[in-house]
Amino acid sequence: MSIKITRVRAICTAPQGTPLVVVKVETNQPGLYGLGCATYTQRFLTVAHAIDEYMHPLLEGKDPSRIEEIWQMAMVSPYWRNGPILNNAISGVDMALWDIKGKLANMPVYEMFGGKVREGARVYRHADGKSLEEIGDRVQAFIDAGIQVIRLQYGGYGGRATLPARPKGACEGAYYDPLGYQNSVVKLFAAMRERFGFDIEFCHDVHERLEPIEAIRLAKELEPYRLFFLEDALAPEQVDWFDHMRNQTHTPLAMGELFTNPIEWRDIIARRQIDFIRCHISSIGGLTPARKLALFCEPFSVRTAWHGPGDVSPIGHAANIHLNLSSWNFGIQEWSGMGERSQEVFTGCPQLEGGYVYVNDKPGLGMDINEELAAKYPCDTTLPTWTNARRPDGTIARP
Ligand code: MG
Repeated sequence: MSIKITRVRAICTAPQGTPLVVVKVETNQPGLYGLGCATYTQRFLTVAHAIDEYMHPLLEGKDPSRIEEIWQMAMVSPYWRNGPILNNAISGVDMALWDIKGKLANMPVYEMFGGKVREGARVYRHADGKSLEEIGDRVQAFIDAGIQVIRLQYGGYGGRATLPARPKGACEGAYYDPLGYQNSVVKLFAAMRERFGFDIEFCHDVHERLEPIEAIRLAKELEPYRLFFLEDALAPEQVDWFDHMRNQTHTPLAMGELFTNPIEWRDIIARRQIDFIRCHISSIGGLTPARKLALFCEPFSVRTAWHGPGDVSPIGHAANIHLNLSSWNFGIQEWSGMGERSQEVFTGCPQLEGGYVYVNDKPGLGMDINEELAAKYPCDTTLPTWTNARRPDGTIARP
């Protein structure tokens, strides 16, 4: 009997409070199904709707082994393409199809991608706090746990600063001060190098909170502290500024958390203007395009640093690690940790040990979901507030 897709459906769950979207692709073979990550936390209901109402009818009856054909067809079916909603929906299916193929081949996904070039993926972890002492203590705890690369933030994205007065009647929002932020982050790196020396790697995430010329100044001011990389220093709309940034500083640059369209990354990679590509794999359409992107980066010595926050499901984290283990030009994996409730809902989760994350060697992505338990953690539909970032005069900012 030939294998056919019988059902494509979204599972929304929030074991740690953050809405996650997982896709289950079921087949006509008893017990054969795949799981993928389609997590776009801020608009999870819309992604789930696209999966249930469009991906299911599009794929019912199709052969799940034809991953490339299905990816290309699902990409053009809606005519308009490369947006985050449909990319995430396609990603959920794409990862699930790789999971199914691995189960059929009796191989982990990393084997199908050419096999391991390393046993574990080196990670960076996040140290943030309200005071330099608090941040330093977090750094020390990570060092004690064997972590080799640590992201330093001072009071969250946009940094710690005493906010200037707002204009009368200014809108509510997550206010921050670009000037105070820049000053505080330079102080932060000076203090952490003073306390820990240079035998540990530090990075920092600008989260596109600065004007391009301010970001260039910050990259230059941070030069003496030898960053592992400076993350998302520019908004995706401003990537042409990397040309100027590159010519003025040797601070390594990581970019791409918000990318959804290949046009956004093509030129900055081919012109060697960044050092690390760090897309949210589900937002670019899944493992199929992410693997092509990693291969495209290789001859330009651009390394991968896939987005790995709390708003990626454990299935998505596993997909990241399978790709990391089999990509020669892997650089680093962001690791925000995996809560206990997540590890009850999802089984076979990747595990952090020392400074490295490991996946199990089961076929496919090696993961499963307990749907009954997942249903006990419904997703909250409250709109996010942190994305309503504002500058001191009340102007809405890129978050
Ligand atoms: Mg980031």
